[in-house]
Parts: sequence; C-alpha cells; structure tokens
Amino acid sequence: MSSINRLALSLFSCLLVLPGALLSAPAMAQGAPAVRTGIEEVAAKAGVQALRRAATARASSRAVELLSRYVRIDTVNPPGNELRGAQFLASVLEESGINARVFESRPGRGNVYARLRGDGSRRPVILLSHIDVVPADPEQWSVPPFEAVVKDGSLYGRGVLDCKGVTTIQLLAMLALKESGTTLSRDIIFLATADEETGGRWGAAWMLDNHYDLLGDAEFVLNEGGFINRDPGKPLVFKLGVAEKSPCWFRVIATGEPGHGSRPAAETAVTRLVDALAKLTAREKKIEVGPVVAGYYAAYAALDEEHARQYRQLERSLESVEFRDWFMADPAAAALVTDTVAPTMLEGSVKTNIIPATATAQVDSRLLPGHDCVSFLSEIRQAVGGPNVRIEPILSFASTQSPMNNELTEAVERVAAAMDERSIVLPALLGGFTDSHYFREKGIHAYGMVPLETSPEERATLHGPDERVSVSSLQDAVGRMVDLLLELGG
Ligand SMILES: [Zn+2]
Repeated sequence: MSSINRLALSLFSCLLVLPGALLSAPAMAQGAPAVRTGIEEVAAKAGVQALRRAATARASSRAVELLSRYVRIDTVNPPGNELRGAQFLASVLEESGINARVFESRPGRGNVYARLRGDGSRRPVILLSHIDVVPADPEQWSVPPFEAVVKDGSLYGRGVLDCKGVTTIQLLAMLALKESGTTLSRDIIFLATADEETGGRWGAAWMLDNHYDLLGDAEFVLNEGGFINRDPGKPLVFKLGVAEKSPCWFRVIATGEPGHGSRPAAETAVTRLVDALAKLTAREKKIEVGPVVAGYYAAYAALDEEHARQYRQLERSLESVEFRDWFMADPAAAALVTDTVAPTMLEGSVKTNIIPATATAQVDSRLLPGHDCVSFLSEIRQAVGGPNVRIEPILSFASTQSPMNNELTEAVERVAAAMDERSIVLPALLGGFTDSHYFREKGIHAYGMVPLETSPEERATLHGPDERVSVSSLQDAVGRMVDLLLELGG
C-alpha cells in the first residue's frame, strides 16, 4: 500500500470513529473503570486504534523533514562529533514529551537515551542505532552528500540508510506510540550511540559499561543489520540478522638479518613473510554450516527453484564437489560457511635497496559463530608460525548469536505475514559486525531488523556514493515499525 493510500485511510477511519476516540482517551489516561460494558470496550479499542493510526500518519509525514535535518548535522567518524546529533535527537524527543538524556562519553562524543514506559508486564525492547556515519567524497556523488537532497522520489545523503534513516524510523515510531497514548507491555528504550563505525568503544560499549542500570533489564534489541529486501522477481525478504561473524584480526611478523639489497641471504624477513602468507591463504578451508546459515538457506530455497533441493540440505549438498565449487565461488556465500582470512596491510623496508629486519602483514580474519580467536590463532601459529615468524592478535571479540525462535522472531513473522504481497523471513548470519554483539555478550537478544523496504541498488550505496532511500519506503517504514512494536508488546 502506498503511503498516500495509507495516510488517506488513516484519516478516513479517524474521522469515522473520532467521537469514540475522544471519549475514551481521557478515561484511558486516568486508568480504565473497573466495569465496562462490551460496547464501551469495543469503542475504546477502536478509539485507541484510530488515534494510533492518525498519530502514525503524522509521524510518517515528518520522516523526510526530520531525516534531512539530521543528515545535515556532520557526524562523520572520525572524529564523530556525535554530541550535536545526540542533542538534536534529544530535542525532538523532548518536544514530544519524552524525557531524553544525553551522555558524553568523551568530549564531543554523544549518546542519547530515552524510555517510553509500558505496563511492565514484559521486559523492555531497545531500539538501537548509531549517530556517526562514514566519510563521503563529494566528488563521487551526484549531489552534495550532506545537504539531504530529494531527487526522483528518493532522499540522498550520507547516513540515510546507515544509520540516520534507521534512527528516524525508530524515533518516529516511538513518537507515534507516545502521542496516541498507547501503552505496550514493554518499555521501549531509544538508544542512539556514538562511534559504531570504528568499533563502538565510545558508544554502545561505553553505555553498557557505564550505564548498565538503564539498559540491563531489556530482553531484546532491534538494531541495523536487516532490511526488507525488495528484489525484482522475488517475494519480499525480511532479512533478520540473528548472528554476526566475529573479527579475529592479527599480525604476522617475520624477522631476519637486515642488510643491503645487493647481498640477500637465502631467507630474509620479507621472504619469510611472503612464505607465511602463501601458506596462510593456501590452507584448506574447513566448511561448517551452522544453524543460522542452514535455516537461511532452507528458507531461501523458496526463492531459487533451480537450487532449492540443495539449499534445503546445505550441509549435505556441500559434500558434492560440483555443488561445493559452484557455491564457494561466490565469496559472500563462502564467507557464511568458513572462517575467512584476508591479508590486507603489508609493511617492509622503507627503501628498495635495504633488507629490513622485520616485515609485517595485517590480516582481517572473520570467524563463524562459536569459533574463538585464541584457538584459531594457535592453529594459525602451528600452520605458518616458526622461530622467525610470530602471530600477534590485534582485535577480537566473541562471536555470538541470538535465538531463532522467540517472541521477537514471531513478531517479525507476523508483520511479514500481514504484508499485501508474498513475504518471507530469512534469518541471517552477517559477514560484518554491528554493535549488536555488545548486547548479545550481556545476554540481551539483539536482532538486525529495520522494516524498511530497500532495493538492491539502494543497498549497494551503503558506505558508498549516492546513499539514498525511497521517500515512500521511508514513510511506510514508520508505520511498519509501529506494527512491529505492537506485535512485540501489544
Ligand atoms: Zn551502521
């Protein structure tokens, strides 16, 4: 349904039942009378629904203006300067009567927190997003990246998908619930943080370390990491991020006798490094199909008739050499079933004619859920290490995953089922990482799910030039986020 139709419908139904809504709203606010006739009950319900539809329509209609103002606040990380973004979000919340708190984790780095109370019968859900964005090179863009230009029905700007658009959808859904006086069974916690793009140390990690009392009672987190994918010729796919691979970044350091380039020894720091990297990348990759990936492909089978049979039993299918070669030829697919190893940075001599004493490579390695960096690195050491080659960790954290069957995943299933066209939910393992892992490590089940329809072309602009979002999809997403929160805590 287009947003215009939805708006018209909301206003129409609002007019139809407005008297009931007006009567029931104050009664709701002061606590419902103990005894009510059936008719009053129905009228009150209809009234609340009408108020909510009208509030949702109003919130949706603010999406472009709000997101545009937000895009114009420069929060490129580094350095971040998220404080101004946090203050902007806090002011929007405060204008709507929701108390917001801004936390400065270090000078200029801001985080904003707000809580919309529910009746407390179920545990809160956190709507998580990040305030910082990655840099944008104006030369590569068709419009200025920080001016929020609307062109051909889309809003262009750095962050409109990652992640300022996400923040806007979450914020407006929260305002619609507040304005309509809807009380859910859960508190809704709004949390927009600094520093995600460089690891979240001054954002999500800092908030959990320093203000756990504000967050620790939550059961779920809804974060970036999964959109509704509208791909040509396919049903709508609700991509639900339930797990992320974890980084296990390391250095390979080779040493040797330094000397002049005209008199090379048989082995030098550089030749040892080259040998070690050759062994590292030639290692046979162990294939492992975890439960999330198995579930993903089993569901994906509905979208690909040609390989449906193999996808339904991915682990078995990968035993066939022919299928395995085909499957593993796609790096994105291969990354879902293996621990990946990508040498990315090399350092040796500063001069062509000097043999250095040390040569170093940095390696970006990503592990499957359940694999840990310490034992992975000891395997690597055995395979490529030696007296002159050592392996040192750079960065790692535990790979975690959220359950695939609970009230949150069921709520997403119901929202997908209520769509006007065929939709499926695909639980996904993400190759990259977001701030979700900080929450999963604390036992709070985090999911990548933003109910925003995106095309493959739009998704390709994430972190790239001409990042954009369709205006009508953005507006629709506000209503769908309200629906999702109602399913989760209605
Ligand atoms: Zn992001």
